[in-house]
Amino acid sequence: MTAQIIDGKAIAQQVRAEWKLRADALKARGVTPGMAVIIVGSDPASKVYVAGKVRACAELGLYSIHVELPEDTSEAVLLAKIDELNHDPKIHGLLVQLPLPKHLNAHKVIEAINPDKDVDGFHEKNIGALVTGETPFPSCTPYGVMVMLEKTGIRVEGKHAVVVGRSNIVGKPMALLLLHKNATVTICTSKTVDLAKHTRDADILVAAVGRPNFITGDMVKPGAVVIDVGINRTADGKLCGDVDFASVKQVAGYLTPVPGGVGPMTITMLVANTVRAAERLSGLSK
Ligand code: NDP
Repeated sequence: MTAQIIDGKAIAQQVRAEWKLRADALKARGVTPGMAVIIVGSDPASKVYVAGKVRACAELGLYSIHVELPEDTSEAVLLAKIDELNHDPKIHGLLVQLPLPKHLNAHKVIEAINPDKDVDGFHEKNIGALVTGETPFPSCTPYGVMVMLEKTGIRVEGKHAVVVGRSNIVGKPMALLLLHKNATVTICTSKTVDLAKHTRDADILVAAVGRPNFITGDMVKPGAVVIDVGINRTADGKLCGDVDFASVKQVAGYLTPVPGGVGPMTITMLVANTVRAAERLSGLSK
């Protein structure tokens, strides 16, 4: 079997077009959805991610600003900036690019964001709402995976979904979103015994590990849907996922590539969450 490759770029374009219509409808009523990204320090990867977010906003005609603060910014200064943007009526979506420099407490910083503007979905209020199945802002990467599955026509209900990784931003919210769609969900971690036994039992396998080419063909059930969330660099500087594309392609039914798979969906859902935040803050949706 050769897997069907899921084209994340094409699906992201389609989804962006749908959300652009919603953004345009808001603009017609005098509300331009706006996003602010705060970046502290000069981590090159973070700068690339922030530039991608700002570009995606521009593509949909959203207003966006990015605030660059120096590496040695104090907690008080960062919190004051967040407070200012919490109260800025032009800003509907507010996020702080992670990771933060070590002297800053990421939890405290995230909790300072107005939950109604927390388009990353990291605030405890929104994580709680994710557990009950009612969050307006699902975390963007798992949300993007769900939309990708839906647009590809892959049914989740009744399937055995195995998520490898349990981070707060990918693994855990991913498992919850799959559960809400009635999958039977297994979460695997670094402490899981006989990982391959679990992955081989997956109808839908999501890899969010952060290890290059970690999931190999022999760990995959023939015909399974394999979603590669990983973004890693090989020793020679090439971008690769957590899934060994060459061997898994021979076994899986569907497979996402890296790059061009989950990545474009993540940014798309961030913009979608910002439009939804603008709709909610202007009283046009719940
Ligand atoms: P974290 O490092 O926070 O989490 C990694 C998870 O993988 C942990 O839960 C860890 O388990 C688990 N893990 C590590 N080794 C093993 C192992 N041998 N067997 C099973 N599980 C293991 O990473 P993130 O969740 O933040 O990111 C995961 C990957 O996704 C990274 O490559 C990241 O770059 C990428 N990413 C991509 C995005 C996109 O838009 N495409 C967005 C966000 C992240 P334990 O908890 O026990 O330590």
